[in-house]
Amino acid sequence: MADSKTDYLSLRKAAAMIGIHHATLSRAVKRGEVTPEFVTPGGFMRFTEPQIEEYRQKRLRYGDGRIAEQPSTQEMYGKINGVGPGAAEEVLESIPDLARSLANAEYAALAVMDNSGHVERFITSGISEEVRRSIGGPPAGRGLLGVLHKQRKTIRISDITRSPDAVGFPANHPQMKAMLGVPILLGDVSLGNLYLTNKIGADEFSARDQHVMEAFARYAAIAIESSNLYARESLLRRQAEQEQRRLRAIIESSAAAVVVVDAPDGQIVLANQEAERILGRRLVQGQGRQHYEQAAVYRRPDGSIFSPNELPLQRALSDGKVSRGVEVVLSFPDGREIPTMVNAAPVYGENGEVSAAIAVFEDITALQEVERLKAEFLSMISHDLKGPLSTIKGLASTLMLENGPRDIDTLLEYVTSIDEEADEMTELVGNLLDMSRIEAGSMPLDPEQCHLADITGDCIKRVTRSRLGGRHDIRVDVALELPEVFVDYDQVCRVLSNLLSNSIKYSQSGSEIRVRSYLMPSDAGRIVTEVRDSGVGIPEDEIDKIFDKFYRVTSQRGRGRPGSGLGLAICKSIIEAHDGKIWVDSVPGRGSTFYFDLPVSTPSVGT
Ligand code: ADP
Repeated sequence: MADSKTDYLSLRKAAAMIGIHHATLSRAVKRGEVTPEFVTPGGFMRFTEPQIEEYRQKRLRYGDGRIAEQPSTQEMYGKINGVGPGAAEEVLESIPDLARSLANAEYAALAVMDNSGHVERFITSGISEEVRRSIGGPPAGRGLLGVLHKQRKTIRISDITRSPDAVGFPANHPQMKAMLGVPILLGDVSLGNLYLTNKIGADEFSARDQHVMEAFARYAAIAIESSNLYARESLLRRQAEQEQRRLRAIIESSAAAVVVVDAPDGQIVLANQEAERILGRRLVQGQGRQHYEQAAVYRRPDGSIFSPNELPLQRALSDGKVSRGVEVVLSFPDGREIPTMVNAAPVYGENGEVSAAIAVFEDITALQEVERLKAEFLSMISHDLKGPLSTIKGLASTLMLENGPRDIDTLLEYVTSIDEEADEMTELVGNLLDMSRIEAGSMPLDPEQCHLADITGDCIKRVTRSRLGGRHDIRVDVALELPEVFVDYDQVCRVLSNLLSNSIKYSQSGSEIRVRSYLMPSDAGRIVTEVRDSGVGIPEDEIDKIFDKFYRVTSQRGRGRPGSGLGLAICKSIIEAHDGKIWVDSVPGRGSTFYFDLPVSTPSVGT
C-alpha cells in the first residue's frame, strides 16, 4: 500500500485491509467487538497495523459467530435504491467503497456536482484520512479529467503517468497508474464522476470493469438524485416543522381562545389554554366533536339555543362558511355564563375541499361589564349634572321674575342654594378630572412634613361649609402627640373630605360621625385614620367593589343621593401612592368605618 508506513489508519482504510465493508466495521466498533487505538476529536477511529493483522487473522465475527462478509452486489444496489430518511448520506458515502470493491481498485473517489457543474462533495475510498486531507480539493477538470468532466465520456487508461494529458490530478494523491473514470449522468444532466485508480492484481482495468462501472454509474446517479431529493425534502420538512412550531407558539400564547378541528367529523387538532379555560375542560388532539360541544349549552344573546350544526365552527366545517363577531353565550351546568365573541373560518385542502376549521373566540365578560358601566356612568353623569343645573336654572329664573322674591333673606337663601349646586357640579367634574389624571399617571405627589390634626381640621371646615355639612355631629380625636406624616397635604385632605362627605351622605342627618387617628397597634411606624358613621352601611357582597371606579352600591343608585362612584377609587389611588392601604368595615343598617394608614414621617415617600 502506498501509505503502509502509517501507524494509524482510518476506519475506512482499516475496513479495506481487514477485507470487510466499513459499515460492518463501524457496527463492530460500536458493539465493542473491535477496539480502535483511539478516536480522534473529529470522530475518526484509528487502528494500529498489528490490530488490523489481528482482526484479519480471526476475521471479524458477529456475536452469533457469523463471519462478517462484504455486502453482496445485490445488497449494495438494494441499499442504493432504498434511500430513506437518514440513509441518503450513508449511501453516498458508500458509493466509492462499492465501486472500488466491484472493480477491485486500490483507490476510488466520487465527485458530486451541483447544478452549475461545481464539485459539491468529494468522497474517497482506500485513502487514509491524513492523506485525504493532504490531497486538498477535488481534481481540476483539465486534460484527461476534462474529457470526463466536460465531454462526459468514460476514460480508461493503463498508465496515467505516461499520458501527455495527465494534468489536473491532486498533487499529494498516492501514486496512481491505471485509471477508470466514469461520468454519472441522469438523462442529460451530469451529477458527478466516479474515479477508480490502480487495479489490484492487474496492470489495468478491463473492458468488463468499464462495463460494470458504467452500469454502476446509473445506480449511483439514482442514489445521488435520491440524496439530493432527500436533502431538499428534509429542508422543506424542517422549514415546515419550524413553521408549525412557530404557529403553535403563536396560538398557544394568544389571549384569544383558538380551536382547530379536522374535517369531516370535527376532531380536535389543536386548542390553546384560553380555549380550555373558557370551556372548563382539557382539549386534546383527537377528541371528538361531542367533547367540546357538550361542555356547555350555546345560546344567542336573546337566550335562544344554537343547535350544534348552527355553531360557527360547524358551519365552517360543513358549509365552508366564514363567521365574524357572532355572539355566543356559553351556559355551563354549574350556572356559570360566559359571553363570547366568535370568529370561525374553514381551512381549505389542496383540492379546494374543506379540510379543517378554525374558531377564535374571546371571553367578552369584562367588555360587557365595561359597556354596562359606561352606559350607567353616562346616564348617572347626565342625571347628576342635570339635577343641580335645573335647580340653578329654576332658582335664577324665579329671581328674575318681575314679581320674584325681593327680601334679603329669601334672596340670600336662593343665592346660597345656587352656590351649593355649583359646588356639587364642581366636585363631580373635579373627581372626573382627577380620575383621568391618576389613570394617565399625571397626578404627581408633592409631599411635605405635616400633621394629621391640621389636615382633619381643614377637611371638617371644608365639609361643614358645604351643603351637606352642618347637620351632623362630627367628633374629632386626633392627638397632637402623634408623629407627623410626610404626605401630599392636599391629596390626603381630598381623601378625608371624600370619606367625610360619604359618611354624611349615607347616614341620617344629626347622627354622629367620628374621625380618629392613632398609631397602628401592630406597627408604630404607621398612623391609621378612621371615619366612622352609623349610617346605612354596605351590603357584604358589594363591599369588595366599592373601591372600583364608577361602582355604586346597588341599593343607593337612583335614590337621590348624588355621586359618580369615583370618590373611593380616587381615595384608593391616592393612599396607595403614599404607600398606604385603605379598607372598610361595615354592618348594613348600622354603619360603616373607613380606615386608611400612612407611614409616619419618612421623607422617602415620593411620586
Ligand atoms: P359616590 O360618589 O357614589 O359616593 P364613592 O366611590 O365615594 O362614590 O362610593 C362608592 C359607593 O360606596 C357609594 O355609591 C356608596 O354606595 C358606597 N359608600 C361609600 N361610602 C359609604 C358610607 N360611608 N356608607 C355607606 N355606603 C357608602
